[in-house]
Amino acid sequence: MILTLKQTATKKDIDIVCKKIKELGFTPHLSKGKEVTVVGAIGQNAILKKDIFGAMDVVAFIMPISKPYKLVSREFKKENTVIKVDDMEIGGSDVIIAAGPCSVETKELLLEIAKKIKISGAKMIRGGAFKPRTSPYAFQGLGEKGLKYLAEVKKMTGLPVITEAMNVNQVSLVARYSDIVQIGARNMQNFDLLKEAGKTKKPVLLKRGFSATIEEFLMSAEYIMAQGNYNVILCERGIRTFETATRFTLDLSAVPVIKKLSHLPVFVDPSHGVGVREYIPVMCRASVAAGADGLIVEVHLCPEQALSDGPQSLLPLQFDKMMDELKAVARAVGREI
Ligand code: PEP
Ligand code: MN
Repeated sequence: MILTLKQTATKKDIDIVCKKIKELGFTPHLSKGKEVTVVGAIGQNAILKKDIFGAMDVVAFIMPISKPYKLVSREFKKENTVIKVDDMEIGGSDVIIAAGPCSVETKELLLEIAKKIKISGAKMIRGGAFKPRTSPYAFQGLGEKGLKYLAEVKKMTGLPVITEAMNVNQVSLVARYSDIVQIGARNMQNFDLLKEAGKTKKPVLLKRGFSATIEEFLMSAEYIMAQGNYNVILCERGIRTFETATRFTLDLSAVPVIKKLSHLPVFVDPSHGVGVREYIPVMCRASVAAGADGLIVEVHLCPEQALSDGPQSLLPLQFDKMMDELKAVARAVGREI
């Protein structure tokens, strides 16, 4: 249930409300908006205790949250969540473009790609050090060495880093070297991993599982937020359908649907969603037009030699051209890149 507090609520009042919520066996979650402070009392059947809070002077209104996800929902927080990473704002008026190779390969290659995408206007570097591969014989990533390369390239270019943690043990390691911890599509319902990611202080980018409904996706984000990490970015990356012309089917309608249901920023990853280089720029444009707060795009200097996902990686020149087009689309929908 959501308790909306009176505008006159002091810190002491808020503490008293939170203490009561805990005493009743629920978890308090605070959301301080521009005008009002709301406290979520999260737990099963919390609404049954509404009269206890109704009797408190400082409580202005009480509302049940009708959705199965609570902290993720727009009912809990009306304003869009804006996540700060260095001097960048995710979920604000700018559309944030993250780009880079599928896998971190060598430091030199990563640095070259980073310099090029930066000139084109990308704001973050992506690259996997731990790779979730369908085949156990495929390249599995450089591990910690790859994380070190990412951190060094950040030092040299200033680009914040987003990279994946595949299991519980990798979360704190990945968080140490990166700015945003990615949870991949295959791990969207790895609940122990979600809980661990909820314990880090770093923002988390959660990818939609390719067989997950939007509701299941949002429930997974709830796992992270329930641990106290409110900095969650949701990323649509394609779902399985009967269609085989593209690698997955990029569900762009998920963008406006999630924007309506949740206050969290929404990214789109057309590279994995579509899987075919030729279609990536147009689907990036469509994603920005649909209201995405950011994109993740794979870029490689020599896609035919890439250790993973070469066929969907753009060359830097193609990325550069696409960025110009994206800037125009962003302006058309009242945003900037
Ligand atoms: C990735 O971004 O490197 C990746 C493996 O993506 P996904 O989890 O969406 O397949
Ligand atoms: Mn990839």
